[in-house]
Amino acid sequence: MSDRDVARERADQLVAAAEQLFTAGVMSHSGHANLSARLDGQRLLLTPGFVRGLRPEQLATVGFDGQVLAGELQSVSAEIIAMHSAVYEARPHVGAVIHTHSPSATAFAVAHRPLPCRTEPMLRFGQAEDVPVVPWGPRGSDVSVRGIADVLRRRPTTAAVLLANHGLLVFGPDAAATAHLVVAIEESAEAEIAAAAIGGAVDFPPGAQEAVRAAISRVAS
Ligand SMILES: [Zn+2]
Repeated sequence: MSDRDVARERADQLVAAAEQLFTAGVMSHSGHANLSARLDGQRLLLTPGFVRGLRPEQLATVGFDGQVLAGELQSVSAEIIAMHSAVYEARPHVGAVIHTHSPSATAFAVAHRPLPCRTEPMLRFGQAEDVPVVPWGPRGSDVSVRGIADVLRRRPTTAAVLLANHGLLVFGPDAAATAHLVVAIEESAEAEIAAAAIGGAVDFPPGAQEAVRAAISRVAS
């Protein structure tokens, strides 16, 4: 596939993922989110500052260094390039990054409470550990971006972080898998909060992760 075909395919995948987030009902009232996909070791495709009604040709191509190479970004989006780039630089196998203000996950972020992995979808869709909290810093600031990089270093297998007093940042191999994980995390956060009213959520039994892995490999083989 040519570079242009790859870019077009990833743009289509990002638009489909954005639609999936709205369909699943995991967006906040404002509908705020930004989604990106890696193009190569230095460039990414990024939503232009809105996601509702997004078309593939409206995505911008930007360098990890913050330079806009093609398309247009609203000024608010320029601030978040570094937030996305930090993830791609820390995790060479990550192909897509999604940031949302999904309400229940954001409740954990606002409470500075890591979100435990205590639901089947979260375990199954790639977050078999708690979602850690990154200390607050103004969006896109050095403090915030350094905080993300620090947590990713300390937690080499986490596929998501909560941004304190802000929202959720999730990453994965491609846009569809990453959107699935956003939905799984939001569902889990909602369930944790609901369970708190009836005695509190309970951990999986020991060995749950291994049991799920074995079940997945049985289906795949
Ligand atoms: Zn945000």
